[in-house]
Amino acid sequence: GNNNLNAKLVLLGDMGAGKSSLVLRFVKGQFIEFQESTIGAAFFSQTLAVSDATVKFEIWDTAGQERYHSLAPMYYRGAAAAIIVYDITSTDSFAKAKKWVQELQKQGNPNMVMTLAGNKADLEDKRKVTTEEARVYAEENGLFFMETSAKTAINVNDIFHEIAKRLPRA
Ligand code: GDP
Ligand code: MG
Repeated sequence: GNNNLNAKLVLLGDMGAGKSSLVLRFVKGQFIEFQESTIGAAFFSQTLAVSDATVKFEIWDTAGQERYHSLAPMYYRGAAAAIIVYDITSTDSFAKAKKWVQELQKQGNPNMVMTLAGNKADLEDKRKVTTEEARVYAEENGLFFMETSAKTAINVNDIFHEIAKRLPRA
């Protein structure tokens, strides 16, 4: 069929994990070494064609700071998909990602396509979170998992593409 889907997607995760950088890479094909912190949230849209559908992502890039936490439900409520981002060089950011997963499991849309992104995969020499540990966690929690790099672009389009394929069809 001819499926045109609009999909609200939210990025959540610790400040500095690379949420804005992943969006910038996906939407504009760019990377900025000193990306400014997001205040509140930023909105982007990008359309992706998959085999059986055209998906227009309406992307909410949230700020990771604790003081904006109370705003998060506004962005994940009604979202068809979420990307929870951590930084593979930070165990704290992985712990924070798990908190977001718990919150979404409790409060989010039950049909939400949830994805875990281990970002900064280019920084292999500084890695603190193993691929295996994240993979096991993702599997146990029914999340789709990929390691990404906004810097080198590895797996960035792929993660959005996988989400587009997994969205329920009208
Ligand atoms: P956010 O707070 O989650 O939105 O994180 P940002 O996108 O602002 O990124 C925080 C910092 O990490 C910035 O200095 C980025 O340039 C850097 N960064 C983001 N993604 C990557 C990546 O994949 N690799 C490397 N090496 N640095 C990254
Ligand atoms: Mg940001």
